[in-house]
Amino acid sequence: MNLNQLTIKQAQEKLAKKEISSVDLVSACISRIKETDDKLHNFLATDFDNALKQAKESDKKIAKGGKIGKLEGIPCGIKDLILTKGITTTAASHMLKNYVPLFDATVITKLKNEGAIILGKHNCDAWGHGSSTENSDFGHSHNPWDITRVPGGSSGGGTSSVASDQVLFALGTDTGGSIRQPSSLCGTYGLKQTYGRVSRYGGISMGSSLDCIGPITKTTEDAAIILNILAGQDAKDGTTPDVKVPDYTKNINDGIKGLKIAIPKQAFAGGLDPDVKNSINVAIKDLEKLGAIAEEVSLEYLDSALACYYIVMPSEVSSNLGRYDGIRYGHNSKDAKDLMEIYIKSRAEGFGAEAKRRIMIGTYTLSAGYYDAYYKKAMQVRTLIKQEFENILNKFDLILMPTSPTPAFKIGEKTSDPLTMYLEDIYTVPVSLAGLPAMSIPAGFVNNLPVGMQLIGKQFDEETIFKTAHAYEQATGWGEVKPKI
Ligand code: GLN
Repeated sequence: MNLNQLTIKQAQEKLAKKEISSVDLVSACISRIKETDDKLHNFLATDFDNALKQAKESDKKIAKGGKIGKLEGIPCGIKDLILTKGITTTAASHMLKNYVPLFDATVITKLKNEGAIILGKHNCDAWGHGSSTENSDFGHSHNPWDITRVPGGSSGGGTSSVASDQVLFALGTDTGGSIRQPSSLCGTYGLKQTYGRVSRYGGISMGSSLDCIGPITKTTEDAAIILNILAGQDAKDGTTPDVKVPDYTKNINDGIKGLKIAIPKQAFAGGLDPDVKNSINVAIKDLEKLGAIAEEVSLEYLDSALACYYIVMPSEVSSNLGRYDGIRYGHNSKDAKDLMEIYIKSRAEGFGAEAKRRIMIGTYTLSAGYYDAYYKKAMQVRTLIKQEFENILNKFDLILMPTSPTPAFKIGEKTSDPLTMYLEDIYTVPVSLAGLPAMSIPAGFVNNLPVGMQLIGKQFDEETIFKTAHAYEQATGWGEVKPKI
C-alpha cells in the first residue's frame, strides 16, 4: 500500500508509532497529485514547498515526544471557497482570480492548530453553484472512476481528490448538497452536519441560511475525527449555538440493533435511476440484517423542496454576491469610465453565466413587487418542510434516501439545460432547507460507478448517523474499493 492511500486513522497510528514520517506521507500525496492531476484537474492551486516544510516541523514535534496535534503531519486539500491565508482563494471564479486572503477561515485555523497540512485548493463550481464542477471558470474536474464523467459538484474537486488518494481528506462546502452529491458520485464519505454545528466564518457565502463546511473522507470514522475538530461555537459566526460537542468517535462501534429508520416512499418514485434504486434497496436489507428496523413513510413535501430551494438560495446569493463591485476587491474592469461603469463592467466580466442567472432570479424574487409571491411563500414552504422532517424524526432515529438520482453522468450531458442539472439536488436540498445533519456513504456500484446512500439525522445528532454508517461500512466494505486511475 502507498502511504497516500492511508486513512486519517491509519496515518495517525503509524505517525505516532514513528513507523512513517510526515515527510514521507506528504511526499507520497504530492507524487500522486503530480501523477494524476493532469487527468483529473482537481487542484486550482498547490502549496507543496510549504507543505513539505511543515511536514518536517511535524516530524520534529513527533520525534520530541511532547504534546502533538490530533492531525499532526496529515495532508489535506481545501475547497477553493474557503479562505486560506497566503494561498489564493478564487471561488473558482474569474472575479477572484488573484485574491489572496489575509486571514484563515475558522475551520482552517482549527485544522492548523491540530497540525494538519494543506496541499492545495480544490476545484469546484464557481461560488458553489452547480452539481458537476462544470461551472468552474477554470475548467471542470473529472471523475476518477471514469474520466469522461463529472465528479459531481460543487465540491467535485475535493471528492475526486479523496477518492483517488491524492489527499487523506478534504473540506468541502454544502449549501444544497455540494458535499453529499459529489461524494455519492465519487464513492467518498461526505458529511453535512447540522446547520450551525461548524463555523461558517471565512467560508465564501453562497446562501447564508443554508451554508455548511464539512469533511470529505475515506471512512466514516475519519469524518467523525474531523468533526471532532471542526465542531463548536465560534464568536465570529452568530449562527453557531452553544451546544455541547460530544466525542463523535466514542459511540461509533455501538451497532444499530433496534434502530428505527424511515424510508420516504416519494424518494423512490419519479426520476430515480432503476439501478440506483436497486442498490439502495439492497442497502436497506443489509441494514435490517444488522438489526435496524426499516419502515416506509410519506414525505409529502419532497417534491416542493427543489422549487423552494431555487427561490431561497438565489435570493441569498443575489445579496451575498452584491459585495463584488469591482471596488473593494475582486476583478476591476479596465475600461470603465465612471462609477456606474465600474460596477456594471466589473460584474459583467467577472461573473460567469450561472452566477448571473442566480443573481437575476434572486434580485427578482426579493424585489418589492414579487417578494410576497416568491420569497415569503418559499420561506413558508421551508417551515412546512422542516416540520415534516421533525414529525418523522420524532418517531424514527434516522431517515434514509438516495443521495443522487443518478450515478456520475457524462461531461457535457446536462450543461445545456440548467433545470435537469438542478434535478440532481432533489434528495439533498430538502435536508439543507431543514438544517438537519446528513451524510452520503458508498452503497455499491452500478456499471462500475459508485452509488451513494444518504442518512439523515435529528438536529445535532450526528452520532446516530456515524454509528449507522460505520456499522454498514464494516459489514459491506464498499468504501474500500478503489478507482483505477
Ligand atoms: N448543486 C446545488 C446548487 O447548484 C448545491 C450547491 C451547493 O451545495 N453549494 O445550488
